[in-house]
Amino acid sequence: MDEQILDCLIVGGGPAGLTAAIYLARFHLDILVVDGGKSRASWIPCTRNVSGFPDGIEGKELLRRMRDQACKYGAKIETEFVTKLERDEENRLFTATWGSGCATARTVLLATGVTNRRPPMEEELHDQALARGLVRYCPICDGYEVTDKKVGVIGSDSHGVAEALFIRSYTADVTLIAPDTALKLKADDQAKLKDAGIGCVDGPAQAVAITGDCIVVDTAEGHYAFDSIYPALGSDTHVQLAEMVGADLSNEDCINIDTHQRTSLAGLYAAGDVVIGLDQISHAMGEGGVAATTIRNDLCAKRPRWREPIDEMVEAGSGS
Ligand SMILES: Cc1cc2nc3c(=O)[nH]c(=O)nc-3n(C[C@H](O)[C@H](O)[C@H](O)COP(=O)(O)OP(=O)(O)OC[C@H]3O[C@@H](n4cnc5c(N)ncnc54)[C@H](O)[C@@H]3O)c2cc1C
Repeated sequence: MDEQILDCLIVGGGPAGLTAAIYLARFHLDILVVDGGKSRASWIPCTRNVSGFPDGIEGKELLRRMRDQACKYGAKIETEFVTKLERDEENRLFTATWGSGCATARTVLLATGVTNRRPPMEEELHDQALARGLVRYCPICDGYEVTDKKVGVIGSDSHGVAEALFIRSYTADVTLIAPDTALKLKADDQAKLKDAGIGCVDGPAQAVAITGDCIVVDTAEGHYAFDSIYPALGSDTHVQLAEMVGADLSNEDCINIDTHQRTSLAGLYAAGDVVIGLDQISHAMGEGGVAATTIRNDLCAKRPRWREPIDEMVEAGSGS
């Protein structure tokens, strides 16, 4: 029975989950990654702030290399969406269910990420604009690329204001546009925008077309053409599996963790965007590495994982 129990089930195959998979596989642990295939990294046409890639790398290619690296060391990856997570209080094992499959594991790492809320626009237009850098989601990632360009920020609350102010350090031409109604801003936010020379436009707003190298936004105040727009509409964090097993969430609706990526529930760990912190590839990878090492150490504290002498492995027909 013991052989059917994974040391670790990783839910999510983005930079956090795949980094953890590389580490855990290299720790000689028995692991499985189950990934819904919707990593935010797969949206990135070319990331230029990941160390070691001076000319940038496409998000999909980075993920492909990480998957290859994990599989090279024995990790298994399934493209499925986990719909249920349970924990047996007696034996403390987790059972995850997806489609027609399921797995039982001593530990689970949730690396399920977040989804950005999209602005009102047709899906095909959105995807084309995203691929061309006309729609961008992350000024920390690619604000550099809009240096001295004309930028629209679609957002209305303090989040939209903060994003517009952040982008103002890259370009003098920033406009904040309300997505649905007239802009309703707090007095101090209005003052900050005025001081920074950021224009304000009422909604409803909808990105309607690509013209040449610009994206056109239809607003309550007419058409505007921008080199790029940044939706600042927030995101939804994928915490459902953590909720199913009763792990604590933060006020920001992220999974609470300690400094070693342990959640409030023994055996359950979390890493990457699903945890509060900098939503970046470098951070997701770092947290994946920390989580994997904690998982390894916690498992070994319960039962040492001594390697069999080589002679015994050969007799048993296993050399790996
Ligand atoms: C347009 C864009 C550009 C960006 N550019 C950069 C950049 O240049 N540099 C940078 O550092 N960061 C960038 N980011 C942010 C970066 O992509 C994320 O911080 C990073 O992908 C987070 O990694 P993660 O592993 O935590 O989550 P993700 O990469 O989002 O992976 C989560 C995975 O979990 C899966 N999942 C979720 N729930 C389940 C479930 N129940 N069962 C199975 N699988 C599940 C999802 O399908 C997904 O594949 C960008 C983001 C966007 C949207």
